[in-house]
Amino acid sequence: MSEAKKMSLTIKVLLGMGLGILVGLFLNLTGLVANPFVDGYIVNGLFHIVGKMFVNALKMLVVPLVFFSLICGVCGIGDIRMLGRVGGKSFALYMMTTAIAIATAIIIAVTFGIGKGMNVDSAANFTGKESPPLSEVLISIIPTNPVNAMAQGDMLPLIFFSILLGISMLLVGRKAKGFVAGAEVANEIMMKMVTIVMAVAPYAVFALIAKSIATLGLDLLYSLAGYVLVLVGALMFHLFFTLMVVLKVFSGLSPSIFLKKIRNVQVFAFSTASSNATIPVTMRTVTERFGVNNSVASFTVPFGATINMDGTAIMQGVATVFIANVYGVELGIAGYLTVILMSVLASIGTAGVPGVGLIMLSMVFAQVGLPIEGIGLILGVDRLMDMIRTAVNVSGDATVSTIVAKSEGKLDLAVYNDPDAGTYDNDEIGEFDAEVEAEMAQAIQESREKK
Ligand code: ASP
Repeated sequence: MSEAKKMSLTIKVLLGMGLGILVGLFLNLTGLVANPFVDGYIVNGLFHIVGKMFVNALKMLVVPLVFFSLICGVCGIGDIRMLGRVGGKSFALYMMTTAIAIATAIIIAVTFGIGKGMNVDSAANFTGKESPPLSEVLISIIPTNPVNAMAQGDMLPLIFFSILLGISMLLVGRKAKGFVAGAEVANEIMMKMVTIVMAVAPYAVFALIAKSIATLGLDLLYSLAGYVLVLVGALMFHLFFTLMVVLKVFSGLSPSIFLKKIRNVQVFAFSTASSNATIPVTMRTVTERFGVNNSVASFTVPFGATINMDGTAIMQGVATVFIANVYGVELGIAGYLTVILMSVLASIGTAGVPGVGLIMLSMVFAQVGLPIEGIGLILGVDRLMDMIRTAVNVSGDATVSTIVAKSEGKLDLAVYNDPDAGTYDNDEIGEFDAEVEAEMAQAIQESREKK
């Protein structure tokens, strides 16, 4: 296959993103988005439908993909003791990077003194929602009904059940071999489904981004320029500096290769604003582009999408300083330490879905005594900030997955260093093979006749 063809889907996705930004900006700046036809039929019609259908398709893949790949991951790990190490290391790294993220965010925001001297006249109102307490999070890791956990897409109980199932299969031993082989095939089938869904990604990314940008309150962006600039700056600092230093120090791998290959995942996180919906793309990229063995990635990726939110933590740090300054509240070192602790803990119990960062923020504010309605001030720009911080969240998931895999000898260096490894291309979907189709049909026929 030619080089140009190999790169086609990645480039198309990037093009979709670029065009989406341009069209969104055009509709927004010209005021066309207010036109009832454009709004009703294009932005909230076509763009909305295409975008939402794609996000649904991604979400549709998450539960079966995590389920089967985790079973295969546990059964294929080779040494079950490794499971505990992978869990321990990834948990420690996720918590560590989140804590560093929010600490640097607070330092940067305090240094710039954002929000000082601003008038409080928030038009938007925000009423906080409850985030689950830690005790409940711990209890709910064990599902009372695994099917219900799957139906709800609850990641932690799903991870728990799948791992336990894998362990039980190993303990049952040879008799369970058929089941293991079945799970492996199911996993491969799910991966194929990811490829099929990805084929429409360029159009969907275009629609998602065009809609988001078209409906953004750009004037709000100016009035909150201080907050937005510091937040985006802190997010970029974490992505390009902190995470890459962590990657280099803990694994010795090349950050520039990492940054090049992670771009695709970031685009999907940016357009969906959901780490959870991005799981299929993260999983595929981490395994096929980075060379992380499925036995590590099948656990670290969904685990990270749930508990690791570096970008969200950064937003919480910057927003806390901003709103404390606006309201003239002095938080002090103890206050900021509480913010760090609360954000890290809150990230464990909240899933990676759009807008959840604000819910976590209200929990942090309640703890340190900041006015929750202050969140109304930043509400208008939060969608765009959510998109950017989700891209940072998933980059953190991939960084930790890669480090843990490397440390366990579960990373294929040749794949990591190969710039073309595992690139998406439309041809990967494959073609229907008449012979295979006939064989399958015959197999079904035979089994019916046997009855
Ligand atoms: N949307 C983010 C995520 O899915 C969470 C948030 O910051 O609201 O990771």
